Amino acid sequence: MKKVALSACLMGCSCRYDGKENLNRALLKELSSYEIIPFCPEDFCFGTPRPTMDLVYNQDRVEAISNKNGENLSKPIIDYAKEFFEKNPDIELFIGKDRSPSCSVKSGKVYDKDKNLLHTTGTGLMAKVALDLGIESWDSEAYLTHNS
Ligand code: SF4
Repeated sequence: MKKVALSACLMGCSCRYDGKENLNRALLKELSSYEIIPFCPEDFCFGTPRPTMDLVYNQDRVEAISNKNGENLSKPIIDYAKEFFEKNPDIELFIGKDRSPSCSVKSGKVYDKDKNLLHTTGTGLMAKVALDLGIESWDSEAYLTHNS
């Protein structure tokens, strides 16, 4: 069975920053031929509930910056992602939650240091690791639209 890495909140896991989930039954139905390997870097690294973070463009890179205290939270997210794909080297598809600073593939809001919105097509830090590994990667909404 082919394996898909999927944002755990889309499976109904209450791991969002506010302790809620983003259960998407249509997406789960679409993925019924896959073995689903869930992930949630933010719950693993920072617990739930937790303060929100934003993607911020800083010189030549995009970082995840805490909205609570300005801390750069990028490293634990990237470390989690690298370890996840090392443990699951046969993942063929990555589907991330839209607009998440960790999981979005092409829908993340990216700000400058002064919190001005630069664009809304950013890549979350875990999704970037998936893309860098050459894994086919989609935002959940785009994947559903593409397959409907
Ligand atoms: S979008 Fe990603 S980081 Fe946020 S709750 Fe869902 S799986 Fe976790």
